Amino acid sequence: MRFRVLGSGSSGNTTLVEGGGTCLLIDAGLGPREMAERLQSLGIDPASIAAVVLTHEHSDHARGAAAFSNKWGVRLLGSRGTYAAGGFAAVDIAAWDVLEPGQPRAYGGITVTGVAIPHDAAGPVAFVLSADGVSMGHATDFGHVNRALVDAFRPCDTVVIESNYDPAMLRDGPYPWSLKERILGRYGHLSNGDVADFISRGLGEACRALVLAHLSRTNNHPELARMSAESALRRRGRTEVRLEIAEPDGMDWMAVAAAPRPARGPEQLRLF
Ligand SMILES: [Zn+2]
Ligand SMILES: [Zn+2]
Repeated sequence: MRFRVLGSGSSGNTTLVEGGGTCLLIDAGLGPREMAERLQSLGIDPASIAAVVLTHEHSDHARGAAAFSNKWGVRLLGSRGTYAAGGFAAVDIAAWDVLEPGQPRAYGGITVTGVAIPHDAAGPVAFVLSADGVSMGHATDFGHVNRALVDAFRPCDTVVIESNYDPAMLRDGPYPWSLKERILGRYGHLSNGDVADFISRGLGEACRALVLAHLSRTNNHPELARMSAESALRRRGRTEVRLEIAEPDGMDWMAVAAAPRPARGPEQLRLF
């Protein structure tokens, strides 16, 4: 399995995932034409996308979903809340499936499982995607890490996680106080420090690559996000984990690689 972030942040979120001979998109936050062009430039026919799986209805994640589905005959997968709040009933969609958190759904070679997460949207979800014997977790737009997410991401070989803001930059920045409060809140966005906390207490032993996504251009700086996550990985003794930042206009392909089998043999286990 491999993936490629095509867009990240408030200007639009879309990630292409390929595995088991299947391609799908997480979110459709770019315009439908731009998404099609980016896929075509990678040699991928937009009509071959098996599904667009939606995290939630906010426009930086769902703005292109209906038009893309309609033009290319691609099905959508989203929660009932996402469809209702996003007004999808009023527009033409090729086909759509309802996501129930915790219930896996297969599209070709990729299995998708939703995990309910706390964000100020109608039914926001994170995803675990599995194919080719590996899995990746994808979570953007949520205010705090809950137990369900930690449990769901524990076996993931790669984790893509939001590192939205630096608290000092947000506090001192230009946003109105009401918006700052929303972002800081339990149903807002994840800070660099929240990600460090997740690394310290929630990151699974299987994880070999961590991608920081949905960075705010106004309230964060890629180097601050990287330094915060790097020092958390170091403190945890997890310097083997590859750390990458998703730029607003995306990043190169990344392979989801399985962790090597533990070197510990039965002889060592007997010592305990
Ligand atoms: Zn967003
Ligand atoms: Zn959102």
